[in-house]
Amino acid sequence: MNLNELYQEIILDHCKHPRNAGPLEDHEVMADEKNPSCGDHIRLRVEVDGNLVSGVRYDSQGCAISTASASIMSEMVAGLSIDEAKAKSGRFVALMRSEIDPELDEIEEILALSGVREYPMRIKCATMCWHALVSALEQAV
Ligand code: ZN
Repeated sequence: MNLNELYQEIILDHCKHPRNAGPLEDHEVMADEKNPSCGDHIRLRVEVDGNLVSGVRYDSQGCAISTASASIMSEMVAGLSIDEAKAKSGRFVALMRSEIDPELDEIEEILALSGVREYPMRIKCATMCWHALVSALEQAV
């Protein structure tokens, strides 16, 4: 299996089995983001315990990239402080927009999503969930 195949496997796995996904009641929705150019839609809530992000739940429809990105994000931010989660979002968005390059020790999931940088139309598919996270965090504090 070469690296690209490995990355595709990671995306497909998150897409088929999205982590922390599930239906949300309307009153639970803290952020609602759309990516009209692709038809992606996410509704998200964040659970905050003191200064920590204890969990993220979301309800999403859309392409494989948007689904996988939301799943990966939900695993990455659980347990971080609110400031760390916001910083991760800023970093992820900058990475996808090619403003910065991946670090050598970047987790595989991020490297897998970095492939999207070659397809400018799809960058918003990957960043939508992180924008939703930040709006939910703004409301949580
Ligand atoms: Zn999409």
